Amino acid sequence: MDFGYSPKVKELRERVDAFMQEHVFPNEHVFEQQVAEGDRWQPTAIVEELKEKAKAAGLWNLFLPESELGAGLTNVEYAPLAELMGRSHIGSEVFNCSAPDTGNMEVLVRYGTEEHKEKWLKPLLAGEIRSCFGMTEPGVASSDATNMQARAVREGDEWVINGSKWWTSGACDPRCKIMIFMGLTNPDAPRHQQHSMILVPMDAPGLKVVRPLPVFGYDDAPHGHAEVTFENVRVPYSNVLLGEGRGFEIAQGRLGPGRIHHCMRSIGCAERALALMCKRSTEREAFGRPIARLGGNIDHIADSRIEINQARLLTLNAAYMMDTVGNKVAKSEIAQIKVVAPNVALRVIDRAIQMHGGAGVSEDFPLAYMYAMQRTLRLADGPDEVHRASIGKIELGRMLPPRS
Ligand SMILES: Cc1cc2nc3c(=O)[nH]c(=O)nc-3n(C[C@H](O)[C@H](O)[C@H](O)COP(=O)(O)OP(=O)(O)OC[C@H]3O[C@@H](n4cnc5c(N)ncnc54)[C@H](O)[C@@H]3O)c2cc1C
Repeated sequence: MDFGYSPKVKELRERVDAFMQEHVFPNEHVFEQQVAEGDRWQPTAIVEELKEKAKAAGLWNLFLPESELGAGLTNVEYAPLAELMGRSHIGSEVFNCSAPDTGNMEVLVRYGTEEHKEKWLKPLLAGEIRSCFGMTEPGVASSDATNMQARAVREGDEWVINGSKWWTSGACDPRCKIMIFMGLTNPDAPRHQQHSMILVPMDAPGLKVVRPLPVFGYDDAPHGHAEVTFENVRVPYSNVLLGEGRGFEIAQGRLGPGRIHHCMRSIGCAERALALMCKRSTEREAFGRPIARLGGNIDHIADSRIEINQARLLTLNAAYMMDTVGNKVAKSEIAQIKVVAPNVALRVIDRAIQMHGGAGVSEDFPLAYMYAMQRTLRLADGPDEVHRASIGKIELGRMLPPRS
């Protein structure tokens, strides 16, 4: 693997970074103010304004690999850009590169029909609408996706959908117009062919966004993480993606790039926490010394740098594997980064919080919110344990002779 950034990536990194410094970081407070004033569940003017600026600057849809619709970057080329965006909680959306839209757009590019693309992909790529992904359910242990119970039954030319989902990120946003719903379509089929992914418009009669679920008290408005119920929701049969019973095939493809993006954003977040930690601990004194020079604080700073660099290299390696041998062969590497990146980010943010004292857990600094969001990534897209189980299984498969 080549560890250097290509000239194309170098140039894009400079432009994304300059955009972040000039337009994104200075407007984080404006975003928070706009959310706090009036209806929290309406999109903010500032993000819409910044989206137009990013589009005009040609920094738009950078995420789509192997498609003429994006910037033509590979996973390894896009990853460092996702890191830069991840330093701010409004960074990714401004460049139309935020979750869950990126994963959903990739699904539509690869598995959507021409009609799906025209109706949903086009406005998503233009940043006119947003989307959500409905898999997790309140009633079943959803780390095992074969447990999904929400039913989609074929009736003539339609699907009739019943059940409930929760933690559907983005469903509270009025711009969210389409859900990729994962539901049980054939309980008698082999375990990994029982479920299908179906496009469900958010305004379909019978679909109800019941409530936003806060994370440690943060509601993440106007994006939000929703509980959603379906009562005899009818959508055309042609809304099924790839084909009936092929939900797991899509899930495998969808989650690979999405995980690289999440992980690089986590690393960006950790970098910001480290920068804040260094600034605060050198500017503030206690017991006659800068905080950085007290106790083991210098070691905490050093450990943070070591862990961030390790996590970045591991993630870039996973991206490189995806580009060169494909998501399937890179399964262990993708699972490894999904465990490592949020855990590293959490450790670094925790140290930064500690060195900030009380200020660290306040809202005067972004650290508390960063911690809350990173903590969810040890669960979202599969808990750590599930990824460890896959890594372990692959390792045993490599090391041990097959059982006779
Ligand atoms: C902020 C946030 C956003 C999310 N966004 C979305 C979204 O947009 N769409 C969506 O569909 N879902 C989303 N999720 C849901 C997330 O993917 C699930 O919470 C996750 O998959 C775990 O499912 P569960 O909550 O049902 O936990 P369970 O399946 O009930 O698991 C509970 C715990 O059991 C343990 N466990 C499970 N399996 C194993 C194992 N093999 N070995 C050892 N221990 C194990 C783990 O500790 C695990 O955390 C989001 C979650 C959060 C918190």
